[in-house]
Amino acid sequence: MARRLLSRAQAEEVLEQLGQEKGELPAFVGAANAKLHALDMEIRQCRDQLCGGTVFVLVNTVSDEWSQLATLHKAEEIALMKVLLEEMFEANNQGHAKESMAVSGVRALNLALGTGMKMQKVQETLDEFVEEGWLRRTDSDYYTLSTRGLMELQPYLLQTFNEPADDNEEADEIAPQIKLCFVCGDMVTLGQRCRNPSCFLRLHNHCATQLFAASQRPACPKCTSTWSASNKVGPE
Ligand SMILES: [Zn+2]
Ligand SMILES: [Zn+2]
Repeated sequence: MARRLLSRAQAEEVLEQLGQEKGELPAFVGAANAKLHALDMEIRQCRDQLCGGTVFVLVNTVSDEWSQLATLHKAEEIALMKVLLEEMFEANNQGHAKESMAVSGVRALNLALGTGMKMQKVQETLDEFVEEGWLRRTDSDYYTLSTRGLMELQPYLLQTFNEPADDNEEADEIAPQIKLCFVCGDMVTLGQRCRNPSCFLRLHNHCATQLFAASQRPACPKCTSTWSASNKVGPE
């Protein structure tokens, strides 16, 4: 459990090994959390952006978002992660021009070498970030945030990249740098976007499926443009 993440099926398997019924899972998680809170930890449930399945992640509840990374990695490795996150959420998150929220393998290497790290060390560190479940490497050689990375770093990312809402302006009118899913409210780094360039409505793939289940002609809930699943957020 190096990644501190279990799928629903894995969690149910653990439960069965403990002689409990599958249906007991919510009660079991609740009981576990009552004990874990004393250790400043908690099991959180979320949906995996890639497959839409439910996953359970063990997270710290008090320490700052970087503490887990910081206990495992040296300062130069943390600096590398920050550079990668800036590339994902700024350079590669430019609305309709570019919304991959990812970094190509080649670009990641170049950025890392720019921080002064040696080539071999760079590759090792990137592999560790993947191994520990912070980053996911796609088949087309892009790095994106994994489910664990998203869950643990979301508060840091929103604080870092999104301007605080100004009381004088209509919060609805300003596009945030990192956009949240209309259905579930979590960050979307893999999913679908409204075709209207001035509309910042985003959906996870599984949330779009749920939202448009009964729609003959899916339309954006905000601007009413025709919705197409082919307008993607995420790497190609
Ligand atoms: Zn969603
Ligand atoms: Zn729209």
